[in-house]
Amino acid sequence: MWRSGDGALAAGAPVTNDGCPSVPHFAEPVTVVRDDADALVAWLAAGTPVLRVARADGLGKRDDKSTLFTAETVQDIGVHAYYDILRIAPTGRPWSVWVFFTEHTREFAGWYVNLEDPHARDEHAVYTRDHVLDLEIEPDRTMTRKDEDELALAVAQGRYDAATAAAIEAEAAEAEAIVADWGPPFCDGWENFQPDPAWPVPGLPERWAL
Ligand code: MG
Repeated sequence: MWRSGDGALAAGAPVTNDGCPSVPHFAEPVTVVRDDADALVAWLAAGTPVLRVARADGLGKRDDKSTLFTAETVQDIGVHAYYDILRIAPTGRPWSVWVFFTEHTREFAGWYVNLEDPHARDEHAVYTRDHVLDLEIEPDRTMTRKDEDELALAVAQGRYDAATAAAIEAEAAEAEAIVADWGPPFCDGWENFQPDPAWPVPGLPERWAL
C-alpha cells in the first residue's frame, strides 16, 4: 500500500500506521516489482481502487485555490485512471520517479518526479508525504517544473514556512541535475517495463469501506 499524507494534495501529516484510516488521506494498492536496499519499485495499475481525499464542500480539489491547503476534507474512494504508473522510490531520497504508460495501450507517456518525504517502508506499506512541487519530463526529455504556484500558496496558507519551501526548491534542483545528467533511474530502461499479465489488480482492505 502506497500511503501519502492528509490534505487535498497529500502534503499534510504522513499516516504512519497500517490500521484503519483515521484522517482523510491517500492510499494506493500497488504490486511490488522490486524492494531492496537501493529502491522500492511498485506498479500502480489503472483500474485500481484507491483512497483519496476530497473537499468537504464538494468542490474539486483545485476549484478554489484560495483554500487549497485550508479547506476541510473528507475521505473518498475512487479508481486510479488514465495511466498505469511505475513508481521508483530511491531509498532515503525526497522523491519518487513515476513512469507513465497510457491506460489500455501501455504506450510510454513520460516521467514525473514527485517530490515527497523520504520513504518509510515496512512489510505492508510505504509512507510518504507530498511536497507540492513536481517535475514533468516528456518522452523527449524536455523538463519543466509543475505547480510552483501551489508551492507559493502552501506558504501563503500556512502549510509551509519559507525555509521549508526553499528546501523543497533545493530538492527540485537536485532532481533536475540528475535528469540533466540522465542518471539513474532514468537511464535504467524502466520505460520498457511490462507488468506480468498474470498480476491481479489489488484491492483496498474491506475494513476501509466508507
Ligand atoms: Mg507531487
